[in-house]
Amino acid sequence: MPQTTPLPPGTMIGILGGGQLGRMLSLAASRLGMRTHIYCPDPHSPAFEVTAHRTVAAYDDEAALAAFAAAVDVVTYEFENVPAATAEFLAARKPLRPGANALAISQDRLAEKAFLASKNIPVAPHYPVATLADLDAAIAALGLPAVLKTTRLGYDGKGQRVLHHLDDAAQAFAALDPKPLVLEAFVPFEREISVVVARNLAGEVKSFDPAENVHRDHILFTSTVPAAIPAALEKHAGMIAKAIVIALDYVGVLGVEFFVVPGDQRPTLLVNEIAPRVHNSGHWTEAVCLTNQFEQHIRAILGWPLGDPARLADVVMQNLIGDEVLAIPAALTGHAQPHLYGKTEGRAGRKMGHVNRLQPKL
Ligand code: AMP
Repeated sequence: MPQTTPLPPGTMIGILGGGQLGRMLSLAASRLGMRTHIYCPDPHSPAFEVTAHRTVAAYDDEAALAAFAAAVDVVTYEFENVPAATAEFLAARKPLRPGANALAISQDRLAEKAFLASKNIPVAPHYPVATLADLDAAIAALGLPAVLKTTRLGYDGKGQRVLHHLDDAAQAFAALDPKPLVLEAFVPFEREISVVVARNLAGEVKSFDPAENVHRDHILFTSTVPAAIPAALEKHAGMIAKAIVIALDYVGVLGVEFFVVPGDQRPTLLVNEIAPRVHNSGHWTEAVCLTNQFEQHIRAILGWPLGDPARLADVVMQNLIGDEVLAIPAALTGHAQPHLYGKTEGRAGRKMGHVNRLQPKL
């Protein structure tokens, strides 16, 4: 029978994935009186530090998954590459929120673009590329530059190459795996924005203000709110995000990344990708919103009413990558709120924490 009453404090929430997003979800759940059980193959997962219940096992270990399912009341996840078989196995035993359909769509760039296009949501022109001949045809259709991407398992710029010359094509095709690939037209965007949106079990939808995102070395560097875009475009981005969660019958928080493209009259939006989870570009909500994205996700999957996403101050979120975390605490001047993830090893390119710098409306 579908759940109609909100799950009570003391509910055990199972979280797949033990990175910083799982850690922050666990902290938010704890603040609402919930317990969390983190499942992750990596024994050094930062999320393990903030909860008493853990499973260290592979995502295809059915015995471990069965024991995990038996120990929790509801299952969620902090990353979109949860294997389909794992999602199905768990969904057969306990409510999985968001559902397996959101994972299937967001794991595959072609499925994602087809889904968005079927809902009349604009995406960059693109062609599937399974062979070199497909790539030649796609380049002939789209022109250069263009961006060649894996359809699966890409993140932080991994799994993609910008093609500038015809000569780049064969080498890029050979280098990118797994196949198939997708060739996207190069979007001459003026900026990138994202919207974090939530939908709960009752179908209530609320979104946070759009953030303007700047990447450095393909990794998110800053999210600034408000974004420097017209109010009508902010509203439009929120409407697209809402349409996506409704179309997916989604439960939880979802991130939608957009390109803002200059137009004749006014800028327009293309959706770059969606992420069925709390999102790095929503970390600013921790510092300046009545309800932050982590609490919102937990509320949504428990069947609770959504919280108020109202924003109380302007803010810039900056990721701390690798050694940048060593600048803390000295860099905490002004209205700076740090959040460090407790990672012991500061490899280059690794997200170690973030700082929210507030501009309070005094
Ligand atoms: P993605 O992994 O698809 O989120 O891409 C990572 C980043 O690469 C984006 O945030 C953009 O900055 C850039 N990018 C991706 N696709 C395109 C495109 N079709 N045109 C221009 N830039 C792109």
